[in-house]
Amino acid sequence: MADQSAAAYLRPTDLTFDRYRVDLTTQTVQHERRVCADLEDALGGIARGFKLLYREQVADPYDPSAPLVMNIGALTGTRVMTGLRTYLIGYSPLKASLSGAPALMWSAGSGSFGTRLRSLGIEEIVLTGRAARPTLLHLGPGEAGGPARFAFLDAADLLGLSANERVRLLHERIPGAHFAVVGPAAEHYREVAYAGVAITTDQQLETGDAKPRWCGRGGYGGVMGSKNVLAVAADAPNPPASASGLKEINREINLGAGSARYRDLPLDRGGTWRTYKMMKDAGALTEFNFHSTGTDLSAALFRANVEAGPYEARAEGCYLCGIRCHKNVYDAPEGIALGFRAKVDHEPLALLGPNLGIFNPDQVLTLIADVDELGMDSISLGVTLGYVMEHNQRHPGAPLVGGLAFGDFEGVRKAITATGTGRLPVVGQGVKRLSEQVGETAYAMHSKGIEYPAYLPHTNPGFAWALAGGHMSMRTFFLLVLERETGLDYWVDAITNRGPLFMLDDIIGLCKFANVGPEVEAEALRVAAGLEVTADDLRAVVGRTYLRGYASERRVGFTPDDYTLPAAAHEESPHILLPYFVTPEFFAALRERVLATFDARVAAADWL
Ligand code: SF4
Repeated sequence: MADQSAAAYLRPTDLTFDRYRVDLTTQTVQHERRVCADLEDALGGIARGFKLLYREQVADPYDPSAPLVMNIGALTGTRVMTGLRTYLIGYSPLKASLSGAPALMWSAGSGSFGTRLRSLGIEEIVLTGRAARPTLLHLGPGEAGGPARFAFLDAADLLGLSANERVRLLHERIPGAHFAVVGPAAEHYREVAYAGVAITTDQQLETGDAKPRWCGRGGYGGVMGSKNVLAVAADAPNPPASASGLKEINREINLGAGSARYRDLPLDRGGTWRTYKMMKDAGALTEFNFHSTGTDLSAALFRANVEAGPYEARAEGCYLCGIRCHKNVYDAPEGIALGFRAKVDHEPLALLGPNLGIFNPDQVLTLIADVDELGMDSISLGVTLGYVMEHNQRHPGAPLVGGLAFGDFEGVRKAITATGTGRLPVVGQGVKRLSEQVGETAYAMHSKGIEYPAYLPHTNPGFAWALAGGHMSMRTFFLLVLERETGLDYWVDAITNRGPLFMLDDIIGLCKFANVGPEVEAEALRVAAGLEVTADDLRAVVGRTYLRGYASERRVGFTPDDYTLPAAAHEESPHILLPYFVTPEFFAALRERVLATFDARVAAADWL
C-alpha cells in the first residue's frame, strides 16, 4: 500500500502488498508482506494474479490443491469513483481447450466487499485445500495494526438457501461486514460449471432485496464450493480514504462520454436498454439461439414496454457511484414502486429473453431472479438453454431436456431450477461439453468453453481471443456497430492491440463502466495511490498480462484450432443489418495473423 503522506510519488518497488495464503484443510493462514517487484505487484488485480498463477499445473480446478486467488486492485477502496472491484482468479471449470485442459481466467465484481478488504489491509488471499465442513471465512481487523484475523466459522445453516437468503442471514449474524457469497448451484459444483459469487452492495444489506453484483463468469462459485467455503465476510468499516485531488477525475468518470452508455439517460440513450435497443436496431440481437429474426418480437422488452407492465425501472448503484448502472425493476401497480423484482442488465435480459424465444416482460423478470437466487451465470445458462432448444428443433425425434422448446417459459423455469440444484448436469456442464457430447458444435455459441455474451459472433471475430469472456476481456464486441470496419488489418489491430486494453480496469480496481482511458487512470493512480505511473506504463502492463494469459493457454495445450468460432457464426443472415465479413476465409486469414502476432510476442518475452 502507498504511503500517501509522502511528498513525492512512489515507484512500484517502493511499495509493499499484503498476501494471505489460506490452507482450508489445516485452517492455517500465512501472512506475507511483500515488496513489490514490479508494476504488476503494485497494481494488483489480474496482473498480479496472473503472474502468480500462469505457470501452475492444474488438472482439475476442483482439486483441493488448485489455488483460487481473491484480490483487489490498487484503486479498490480508494475514493476514485467505481474503485470497488474484487477479482477471483484461477483455473476455470468452464474454460477449456478442445483437449479438455482447464485454463486460467478471472471474474470481477463491484459492490462493497473489495473496499472492506482494503480496510482490513488484505490485498490478496490465496485459497487452497478443502474445509472439513461448510465454512464462513470471517476476516477481521488485526490487533494494533497487525495482520488481519481469519476465523473459520460453521456455515452449515446456509446450505440449500437462496443466494439472497444467505446474505440476509449473514447480515444478521455479522452486521458490520460485506460478503462474497455463493448460491446453491456452487454446492453442486460437479454438476454446474458456471456457478458465480455474489458480492454484496450497501443497497442489498439495507433493503434485504437481491441486489448483489456478481463475479459471474468462469465458475468460481463452484471453485469456492469445492473448497467448502460458502461465504467470506470482510468485517470492517469502509476505509478512511481521501477524495483530495480527485474532483476532475471523478467528474470524468461520473459525467464523461465513456460512462454515458451506462447511465440512466432519457430516451434509452444510456443504460441496459440502450445496448438492447442498439443491437435490436442493428438486427444483431441474440434471438432464438443467436439467430436474429429481423422482426419486432424483441421490442416487447424495450424499457417503455417493460415499464408498461406496470413496473418501474430505477437506476441504482454501488457505494458512492454516480453512474448508477443497476437497472432495478419494481412492481409498480398504480404507478407506485412496491416490491423488487429483478436487476436487469443487457446480458440476462437478452439471453434469458429473446435468445430463448421469451418476450413477455413478467416472464423474463422471473427467470432473471430465479437464476440469481440459484447463483448461476445467466450468460452461460442462457446460451446453453438456447443450444438445447435449437437442437430440439433440429432433432424432434431425439430431444434433450424433455424436448425443451423456444418460448416454453414453464419448461425453462423447471430447467433452471433443476440445473441450479444439480439435477440437470447436461445443461450445467455448459455448451462446449454438451455440444461435443451431442456431436453438433456448429451452433454452440462459445469460444474456448466460455459462452458468448449477448453479441453475435457474426459481428465479432475477437471472441476467439478473449481471455475471460467476450464482453469482459476483449473490447471488440461493439466495434462493428460503432465503426463498421471489416478490413483484415483493422481486425488484426483491434484484437492484438486495442481489444486487450479493456483488461486494464481488471488490473487497477475500477469498474468497466467508468470507461475512461489509460491517461485518466494513470492520473487516478498518481493521486489516490501515490504511484508514479504513466499511461504507457499501464498499456505495457496490460500487454504483459495478456501475454501471460495467452502463453498459459498455449502451455496447457491450446492449439490454433482452439481459437475458433462456431460454424454458424460464418453464415450470412439477411436480418443482420451490419456488414457481413466473418467468412471462413476471412477468419482463417485473421487467425493466422493474430496467432503469429501473439506467438512472436511470446517468443520475444524473455521474462515469461
Ligand atoms: S458503474 Fe454500476 S457496477 Fe460499476 S460501480 Fe457504478 S453502480 Fe456499481
